[in-house]
Amino acid sequence: MQSSRRALVAFAFAAALAAPLAGRAQQAMDPVFAEHQKAWTTKPEFSSPLVDHLPLSDKVPSPRAVLGHDVGAPRVLDHYADLLKYYRALAAAAPGRVKVVETGKTEEGRPTVVVLISSDANMAGLEANRANLARLADPRGLSEAEAQAIIAKTRPMYVALGGLHSAETGPPEMLMELAYRLVVEDSPLIDQIRDNVIVGINPATDPDGRDRYTDWYLRNKVDDTDDLNPVPGAPYWGKYIFHDNNRDINYTGLSARNLLNFYLKWHPPVMHDLHESVPFLYTFSGQAPQNPALDPILFGEMPWIANYEMAKLTSYGMPGVWTHGYVDEWSPGYVGFMSTNHNGLFKMYETFGNGGATTELRHVKPVDGPGEDLHGQDQTGREWYRPSPPYKTVEWSMRNNTNYMETGVLTGLSMVAQNPRTIVENFYRKSRNSIEDGRKTAPYAFLIPGDQPDMTRAAILVNLLRLQGIEVGRLGAEARLKEGKFPAGSYIVKRDQPYGRLAKILLEKQTFPDNRLRTYDDSAWTMGLMAHVKVTPSADLKALDVAATPVDEAKAEGAIGAAGAPAYAVLDHGSINMAVLRYRLKGEPVRIAEAAFKDGQTDVPAGSFLLDGKAYGTLKREVVPLGLTAVALKAKPSVASHEAALPRLAVYSTWGSTQNVGWVRYAFDQFETPYDLIFKDEVKKGGLRAKYDVIVVPSQGRSAKNLVFDIPVRGKPLPYTKTAQYPTQGAYGSSPDIRGGMGLSGLEELRKFVEAGGVLITLGEASAVPAEFGLAPDVEVSRPSKAFYAPGPIVTAKVEKPAHPIFYGYPQGQPLTVRWASTALLSLPVRDQNDVIMSFPGGDKSVQSGLMVGAAEVKDRPAIVDLPVGQGQVLMFTTNPVYRWQNFGEFRMLWNALFNLGHLRDGLGGPPVITDSAKDDDRKDDAKSEG
Ligand SMILES: [Zn+2]
Repeated sequence: MQSSRRALVAFAFAAALAAPLAGRAQQAMDPVFAEHQKAWTTKPEFSSPLVDHLPLSDKVPSPRAVLGHDVGAPRVLDHYADLLKYYRALAAAAPGRVKVVETGKTEEGRPTVVVLISSDANMAGLEANRANLARLADPRGLSEAEAQAIIAKTRPMYVALGGLHSAETGPPEMLMELAYRLVVEDSPLIDQIRDNVIVGINPATDPDGRDRYTDWYLRNKVDDTDDLNPVPGAPYWGKYIFHDNNRDINYTGLSARNLLNFYLKWHPPVMHDLHESVPFLYTFSGQAPQNPALDPILFGEMPWIANYEMAKLTSYGMPGVWTHGYVDEWSPGYVGFMSTNHNGLFKMYETFGNGGATTELRHVKPVDGPGEDLHGQDQTGREWYRPSPPYKTVEWSMRNNTNYMETGVLTGLSMVAQNPRTIVENFYRKSRNSIEDGRKTAPYAFLIPGDQPDMTRAAILVNLLRLQGIEVGRLGAEARLKEGKFPAGSYIVKRDQPYGRLAKILLEKQTFPDNRLRTYDDSAWTMGLMAHVKVTPSADLKALDVAATPVDEAKAEGAIGAAGAPAYAVLDHGSINMAVLRYRLKGEPVRIAEAAFKDGQTDVPAGSFLLDGKAYGTLKREVVPLGLTAVALKAKPSVASHEAALPRLAVYSTWGSTQNVGWVRYAFDQFETPYDLIFKDEVKKGGLRAKYDVIVVPSQGRSAKNLVFDIPVRGKPLPYTKTAQYPTQGAYGSSPDIRGGMGLSGLEELRKFVEAGGVLITLGEASAVPAEFGLAPDVEVSRPSKAFYAPGPIVTAKVEKPAHPIFYGYPQGQPLTVRWASTALLSLPVRDQNDVIMSFPGGDKSVQSGLMVGAAEVKDRPAIVDLPVGQGQVLMFTTNPVYRWQNFGEFRMLWNALFNLGHLRDGLGGPPVITDSAKDDDRKDDAKSEG
């Protein structure tokens, strides 16, 4: 009671409290809009009193005044430049209420922005309010009384983002109408929002994708009204990672990174990510599995607002608004979770979208396709959290979608506007709790020892933490803690900091709370395990007092021995920068040591690059900035070695699932690795061996069959080519018709490529293709039982052939840590056991982080198989050595396969050694696969 009284005084929203519902003010309304809105809404119950009108303004342009159409017009989508044109027109006409904040550029050079809207008074005090939120986000040194004084004068900021997923086309349209309404409407509800909240709008969170999808829609999909047989979407959105831009835990995407930078400057306590999928409006309430490291306050706030929205929209007579049944609060990797990860509050909607602006008859039930419903449940069924279910079939329009989303967002904003002090105070409280939790609960810190053989991956890890605003320190002197000694140069992440909870979430091992629960994405992401970087949690309170210099950006220190030596060795301790070095040294003869050796006091590991003394100048220029170490050798080395190859490389991509290919492309681009991206047309043309030495087939497609046949050949041709009218098409590949896949004739070309000496490398699920389509006829694939469930756990793998070049740079004689990536369980006949170079020991003990139910089923299954086929090889990874921008510890296995081309089978040794116990098992397997 007390605090709400204070809030009343602080914000003087008495008028709003008297009529918190939508009320029509004495403002002239736009009759044309009302007519359109009514005509485009397919049933009266799909509208609400909040959105069935739009005020006229003689000063401020409506969306129609700038774009030529009202929002929700059938068959119309706006390009990104037009979205920006609208917001800039709005800001120009109402500078007292609107400000466009530039946040950076996308991969393709489009500007990214956040549009801020509030009352004239709030906008005049915008900078002061920003500073207040920043102070509350880091309340160290602030007394409780000082904090309360700041809270009393601080407005919450609520940022809505739409269009992260480009096929979900409604939110970027809706947000323009919302912006206009917030600027011009005089009604108790809008006045209260404008007076008490600073609204931020991120117009399209993937601007490149917005334009590419819009062109695709207008060219190929605008006439599509058959939802049971839909025209597929565009092959690309943004440059690389498609739908995974919402799984981009380390912010590789520039538009997401720009938004994160905005977040860390402005500290909006609320972010609201607008998506489209399930009917009619799902409002996320943060349900199980929940990450217990997040503040408990959050788990009260999320259903608090979601339930209010459900109650309000249902009271307007809108059916199909629900909570609780979709997505969960386990993985921290979704873009909008930047708010919950930083002590804010996250909201997310799924509204029902048609993949464009074409009105169609939608069959809501039966639900089919993965991802439509995680639990296989009927989303038209009544549940306690879905009291007024969506219809089973419905004629659905862009305007319906707009009505639901806009009514929902206005209701969420209204809730925040009614409780501004609670929102701001909770934000402060969560920030303070995060700091205090770091002093109360072990681990109190995480240490990254500075004496690890490869510090370049430690630097990657530290810089990813820094990107998220986490404070990292570097020890100037040795520290002694319960866990041992940490040398000078070690990094320390103390938990008594505002983002201490996030540091814990990212660095600790994930213990899944309940094996019966399902999660929407990965169950594990532990950064140290993923990067093969030692990270030591400390349960020693003294860790908080260790002296450390704040790190802005971490950089591994490179070194090179004295000039004038007969030869140099670049020590291979697994740095991915060895890949960059190889390409930068492409004019120099580089040999690779096939075994470890000693030169004086120096241990030179297998895999190290050996160069003649003449290369000193070039080496020095490249090695030091890359954080690598080159030692001067006393004599030309006598160790067995071979030339480090620079193979002519292609990456194969389907048109129907470019996402995981995009992660591999991103990694190759980051590590300066040249390749051709090839598609079905290039493969079917043949002659592959003349052009390439290695073809990498990343994990893609729903199945092996789907990878081969891809988008079904039905309906009309689907061109993805650049034209004057559709300039965004044809980027990253081009085809007059993207349907049909490589098919059997393409497979035959891949077989010829391998027979003639090429190396085919398959990653993750793509490794089922050589087995199921006869490129590796002796390899069989089976699938685990229905009880098996492994959403991306981190597991132990056993190295079967330690001398194999794939393992250069990895510590010898130890199991490795890998991310579980595929349900293709391979088996090989006993005569080929020697070709298994890594396997999964399986069992619960092999699960290091996250969840694998039925871990016994994967016992002794191959993880990497190196199979001779004709003159060439098929190298099958059932792991994914380039999984998103995450498992840096595994990356080198892929580059090792490239640089050691021609010598990959050197490490396999003689014929299989069959022990007595193995003999029986192998014979059984053999009989099975041949019988
Ligand atoms: Zn989405």
